[in-house]
Amino acid sequence: MVLEMSKHVDRKLRQPIVVVLGHVDHGKTTLLDKIRGTAVVKKEAGEMTQHVGASMVPSSVIEKVAMPLKKIIPFKLEIPGLLFIDTPGHELFSNLRKRGGSVADIAILVIDINEGVKPQTIESIDVLKARNVPFVIAANKIDKIQGWKPYPDEPIISSLKKQSRAVVNKLETLLYNLIAQLSSYGVNAEYFERVRDFMKVVPIVPVSAKTGEGIPELLAILAGITQRFLAERLRFAEGPAKGVVLEVKEQQGYGAALDVIIYDGVLRERDNIVVAGFNGPIVTKVRAILMPKPLTDIRIARTELQIVEEVAAAAGVRVIAPGIEEAIAGSPFFVVPNENEIEKYKRLVMEEVETIRFRRDIDGVIVKADTLGTLEAIILALNRKSIPIRIADVGPLTKRDVIEASIVAKNNKYYGVILLFNVKALPDAEELARKENIKIFSNNIIYKLIDDYINWIESEKMMELRREFESIVPPAKIKILPGYIFRRSDPAIVGVSILGGIIRPGMPLMRSDGRSIGEIQQIQYMGQTLREAKTGQEVAISIKGNVIVGRHIKEDDILYSDIPLSHVKILVSKFKNILDETSLTVLKEIIKIKSLKEPEYAAFLMQL
Ligand code: GDP
Repeated sequence: MVLEMSKHVDRKLRQPIVVVLGHVDHGKTTLLDKIRGTAVVKKEAGEMTQHVGASMVPSSVIEKVAMPLKKIIPFKLEIPGLLFIDTPGHELFSNLRKRGGSVADIAILVIDINEGVKPQTIESIDVLKARNVPFVIAANKIDKIQGWKPYPDEPIISSLKKQSRAVVNKLETLLYNLIAQLSSYGVNAEYFERVRDFMKVVPIVPVSAKTGEGIPELLAILAGITQRFLAERLRFAEGPAKGVVLEVKEQQGYGAALDVIIYDGVLRERDNIVVAGFNGPIVTKVRAILMPKPLTDIRIARTELQIVEEVAAAAGVRVIAPGIEEAIAGSPFFVVPNENEIEKYKRLVMEEVETIRFRRDIDGVIVKADTLGTLEAIILALNRKSIPIRIADVGPLTKRDVIEASIVAKNNKYYGVILLFNVKALPDAEELARKENIKIFSNNIIYKLIDDYINWIESEKMMELRREFESIVPPAKIKILPGYIFRRSDPAIVGVSILGGIIRPGMPLMRSDGRSIGEIQQIQYMGQTLREAKTGQEVAISIKGNVIVGRHIKEDDILYSDIPLSHVKILVSKFKNILDETSLTVLKEIIKIKSLKEPEYAAFLMQL
């Protein structure tokens, strides 16, 4: 393994910020709990492990748990530890946004090894690639492999030495399949011990979040990769703090508070800060910085916060400042080094935000989301599907948004819709949408929100097609059944067998020599009136028009639907792929018959 780090470090390195992503139920939360638990149990006295919204795993802990790996993974840690973001999943990840990238330095992509790649795994790969964040794969739940003997908290390589041949083989197979699956999604991954170049190949560490096996390797590899390959990014600047707002909260006794991840510099009490607000940039002064009191047991549910005077990157902190009620989650958080530069920083913040919140005068959907990060993620996803956007904004759905959607709907009903992520519609907006018949999609999972919308477009288009199909004369071929002449004329009523296609009331009929013989008035089966009948059915039909059985038609005659030229044109251009094999054959027969008298029909034969 090539994990030893560069020898010369001029300035201190800060803790890399680590996020956990992956499909639901693959074990993200369990893995984070396990890692945090390890940090609390193994830390040394005085080491801070808790931040607001994040947890620190000190290097002393990583070195301790990776001790048995010393021979295999020779490195000395120069980073002070790893800072894990407490909330897993891509909604939060998307709020760790920073222009052109992410505040997260590295990610763990959790995949249940028994299940493999799932929709949110793919989505995670997409967002990690879009933000250029390196990642390692935790192939989780290895303890579920049949016959697995747990060796709690041991490195995977030592546990594997003690597993049976069958278990090792099974793990190999699962890994092999996972690697193949990942490669089809453009990820070049490999079992970590076989990785030579960590810049090019994504290492897979088999783990059990339940038993803790493999956690030592996972931590060692995260630390190794970050300090070896990301040292430049992790060089700690002692300048003004830069961060990102993860959440806007209420803090008892203080009012509004911001949960911020600081990724560079130092934040101090009384610093001037700029963040983005719903109605423009907010400039204010830090009144207090809060951090959790050191704990001995992570399982204590309620964490008390205490005031600290300053905090250095990387850190998760709660910031109290006046006037921040309107701050937007996902916004950049900048300390302004001196008062003359306030305008410059306001511009910086707004420039960054305006690429995500926009209004355009085009036919496109209306998107409202709760945070800048989720909004940006939805924009990316819609872009990938080439769906145009008219309004992208944060906050609840307003009447004005609905008016915009109804303007679009007049031109394009598929784009005149509203997509809501984790925000509500104001009552008057909802009422207007109902009145204007504007469709609102709302879901708290991005891919589902977009899937719902796309499925709706498809089903609407399908319905339109069906309506159109119902308005034209479809191909049909029927045979008059011998012994089933119920009435000779006015109207003639006969029993027929449908040899192919669909018959409907109102359908004009012709004989196989092309002679027209009136239209179907009614279809009946066992005393019931039917709206249509299909291939294989035997029904009674009454025929409107001057038709007399025995003179115009007789038993065993074959009749066809008499399709007008304009309808043939539509059938060939729009429904060719929807018609079944027999209907297509019948259509060809009809065209042949019709073209005897009307040669224009013949041209369509070639297109079938
Ligand atoms: P998340 O949705 O990705 O956060 O998944 P969770 O951490 O909530 O885990 C989903 C389920 O899988 C829970 O019932 C966990 O107890 C279980 N689970 C997670 N990791 C493991 C593991 O390594 N082994 C086993 N056997 N179960 C696990």
